[in-house]
Amino acid sequence: EPVAVPALLDGLDPDQRAAAERLDGPLLIIAGPGTGKTRTLTHRLAHLVTAHDVPPEQCLAITFTRRAAEEMRERLAALAPEHAGRLTISTFHALGVRFLRELHERLGLSANFTIAGTEQQLAILTEITGAEKTARELLDGKTEWDADLRDRYTKTLRARDLVDFDDLITQPVALLEADDALAESYRDRYRWISVDEYQDVDELQYRLLRLLAGERANLTAIGDPDQAIYRFRGADVGFFLRFRQDFPGAATVQLTRNYRSGKHIITGARQAIEPTTLVPGRELHACGSHAEHALIGLHTAADETTEAAFIARTIDQLLGGSSFHSLDSGRVDGDGDGGLSFSDFAVLYRTDSQARAVVEALTRAGVPFQKRSHDRLLHRPGVAEILRELGFVSPEQAADVPARVRGAAEAALSRIPAAELDERAVDIHTALDLLAPLSRVHEHDLDAFRTELSLGAEVDSMDPRADRVSLLTLHAAKGLEFPVVFLIGCEDGLLPLRWQGATDLGAEHVNEERRLFFVGMTRAQDRLYLSHAAQRHRHGADRSLPVSPFLAVLGQDLLERHGEAVPRKRKPRQISLF
Ligand code: ATP
Ligand code: MG
Repeated sequence: EPVAVPALLDGLDPDQRAAAERLDGPLLIIAGPGTGKTRTLTHRLAHLVTAHDVPPEQCLAITFTRRAAEEMRERLAALAPEHAGRLTISTFHALGVRFLRELHERLGLSANFTIAGTEQQLAILTEITGAEKTARELLDGKTEWDADLRDRYTKTLRARDLVDFDDLITQPVALLEADDALAESYRDRYRWISVDEYQDVDELQYRLLRLLAGERANLTAIGDPDQAIYRFRGADVGFFLRFRQDFPGAATVQLTRNYRSGKHIITGARQAIEPTTLVPGRELHACGSHAEHALIGLHTAADETTEAAFIARTIDQLLGGSSFHSLDSGRVDGDGDGGLSFSDFAVLYRTDSQARAVVEALTRAGVPFQKRSHDRLLHRPGVAEILRELGFVSPEQAADVPARVRGAAEAALSRIPAAELDERAVDIHTALDLLAPLSRVHEHDLDAFRTELSLGAEVDSMDPRADRVSLLTLHAAKGLEFPVVFLIGCEDGLLPLRWQGATDLGAEHVNEERRLFFVGMTRAQDRLYLSHAAQRHRHGADRSLPVSPFLAVLGQDLLERHGEAVPRKRKPRQISLF
């Protein structure tokens, strides 16, 4: 009989509670955006270790991003402080690193192997093929690898005590598939496994999960097929859809109460996904405690510059500013909510290049922002220098990671010849800033810091605590929420995205783009603004893009339209939609 821990599950609704209370066996939780998936998973883990006495060491929770793992760790620390530190909460890649550190000998690596960055991969491939161009094409996936090349590449990596990013999953899978006793030992270690965002697992991740779950299969998969947006990276929503075949006898729980968004936003999002939903009969109800339910703003801009100006103006207005009093075109509902700050706003876009106009407008208006960059942190100027210096630090030295990072930056600066000092110094100072949050997280663990750094993708450039407007691609916005969201560039060609010269986009691509639109809309808590520009600079020319077909299904009663005078002569036909 489980011990009753009433307070722990108090914050859950009946469906969330049912999911959290389920002790063992495979469990599929199908749940729309904002229905508390992440929250349910966290409470479920806390409940397992406190009420059911499951040893925390036997719990493995897999998240999609490092940031999601961190957030889950924090929430668990609040719910079950005495156990939280002993659970494994990790991304697939970080889990792969952990396995390979344990199994290094089988691959001929030392326990301190490092993860090759793109530069190192390129150098090795150039050595082998004798041509940098060929090497680049191999890395771009433009040229096929043959078995001999693959073999030489892998041997060279291993000889230098390196693994590459792909190895982090392929190698553990290969090792566990080849050695059942080994797989069994991992199954014994992790008896309770949960995976957030299961709709976006790829084949290798799926194979790893099956190896780890085994027959016992205390596997909880949680996700939303309608938010599957990583097909281009090899993710396959099919694994979610066939979970119940893969794990016979799986219990299913659906979460349909959305606590995040106002009711018009939810209705609009439901309409947007309805034409191609992967969850037949899907339900999603607005259950949040919203004081008011704003309509969805739909803004027609003349071009990307005025679209960006609209954003700056609206932020100012919602913050209660007065600098833009005489609005002649854009009209914003409401007259300034109290209590909003810059970090409550997010601007979401399909392609990174759309951010430029927004950056300019916000800079001009003096609005602080942070933009998630697509560079891996490792490739930022200055970071490599600091890391190289860190390599010289002996492990016996006191493990105060932030202090050591600072020391390494100083050492790097002292090595730079005077001639290039100014320029490089700026790089190194910037790099030091970027490394400072991360080094604080791993205060006493230099190895973990370096691993994270090699794995840490674009995420690292965002500080969730900074009071700044967030500029994000739709993909990067997955799992996040903001009181006010601007989803810009709602045009046919951007949403759905059309590559230059592409004619037939293919139904699968358009469906995925629609899901991306759905993900974007459902990030908004209180206010959602959709915007499109009648004309936009794209592929080197000013183009008139028709309005996104995804807007056409939104009920007129949900929309509050505002627009600017759009040049008439080139008004595309589809604009008559409004
Ligand atoms: P996504 O699909 O976007 O990842 P999600 O299903 O993971 O969404 P969460 O991020 O866990 O949703 O929760 C969304 C919001 O709803 C959060 O602000 C969370 O605190 C709130 N929430 C979830 N469940 C409840 C509840 N039972 N009562 C009140 N608020 C809740
Ligand atoms: Mg979530």
